[in-house]
Amino acid sequence: FTTTAWRSAEAIAQMETRIKRNIEISKAQRIAQRGLVDAIGNTPLIRMNHISDQTGCEILGKAEYQNPGGSVKDRAALFVVEHAEKQGLLRAGGTVVEGTAGNTGIGLAHVCRSKGYKLVIYMPNTQSQGKIDHLRLLGAEVYPVPAVAFENPENYNHQAKRHAESMNNAVWTNQFDNTANRQAHIETTGPEIWYQTEGKLDAFTCATGTGGTLAGVTRYLKEKSDGRVKSFLADPPGSVLHSYIQSGGKLTERAGGSITEGIGQGRVTDNLKPDIDLLDGSVHIPDEETIAMVYSCLDQEGVYLGASSCLNVVAAVKVAQKLGPGHTVVTMLCDGASRYAERLFSRKWLEQKNLLTSIPKGLEKYIVL
Ligand code: PMP
Repeated sequence: FTTTAWRSAEAIAQMETRIKRNIEISKAQRIAQRGLVDAIGNTPLIRMNHISDQTGCEILGKAEYQNPGGSVKDRAALFVVEHAEKQGLLRAGGTVVEGTAGNTGIGLAHVCRSKGYKLVIYMPNTQSQGKIDHLRLLGAEVYPVPAVAFENPENYNHQAKRHAESMNNAVWTNQFDNTANRQAHIETTGPEIWYQTEGKLDAFTCATGTGGTLAGVTRYLKEKSDGRVKSFLADPPGSVLHSYIQSGGKLTERAGGSITEGIGQGRVTDNLKPDIDLLDGSVHIPDEETIAMVYSCLDQEGVYLGASSCLNVVAAVKVAQKLGPGHTVVTMLCDGASRYAERLFSRKWLEQKNLLTSIPKGLEKYIVL
């Protein structure tokens, strides 16, 4: 590199460092030696330019939508399957059974196909035909069952457990309480974030479904930084965790709901339990702010994100504002908008949810469905 009139020597040195670092990172991705499963993770950490400039902070989003199954859940899917293998619960030709309506099923389907396992999925029959079709075309055997509460023995999770127990060489992966899920983030997501930022981050925030991501990343970053990096839960309406944290550990009944999918929780799962006390706080994000961020991320950042990702981005902005200019905040871009486009960009749906007026001025042009 030579210095030119428009680039200082310092800027060029910074660019060289950045290029070298990116080469190091991409080396790890170059050949997925064990096949598709090695293409999971090592996702880019994207600077969200507009909101970074607005807050005077560096707001960075981990592009989990680039995983083979299109979401952060590929990481947990791989770890729960490999944990079962290591424990001798799953041998060649075996069957994985899970209760899931969403991204975990898709992640498991890719992992199972790649490793030669059968996959059986139980889900509530209220889920869209699109989700069922997607799982079936990835080779899964899908059982839509009546949508009944967890307490009912016919709930999809219990049916998945019983199905696995009735077979030889089969395992119920139990994503909510199987801590191999959280381990995925201790061993991959956390270190990637630390390496990508060279340890120069001040805070992490994300929402929880199973809690695997928040717990695992928080544990790793806290240990690595001797507690310096702060971590905050981002919580949607209808989840009990925000008030649980705010009240110092009181569990309330679930009430209300959210447009976000895959996040929000009614209890402290085994994945979250060991690390919930490490959190520095919690931010509650209303759906109005989440939907506005779906549109502005698309328009201003150029990223096409699902609602849970955008809730995370809103939380990252709030954390950045709380910390003040000059700080670096990392969050998760859990999946893309394609799976939800028929809702998020539909005028009728926005009207039904009373969210039409939350779309930022000038961005109504994205309401195309
Ligand atoms: N976002 C989306 C879209 C998800 O499907 C999930 C998992 N259900 C999450 C976020 C939350 O991830 P975790 O299960 O690790 O808490």
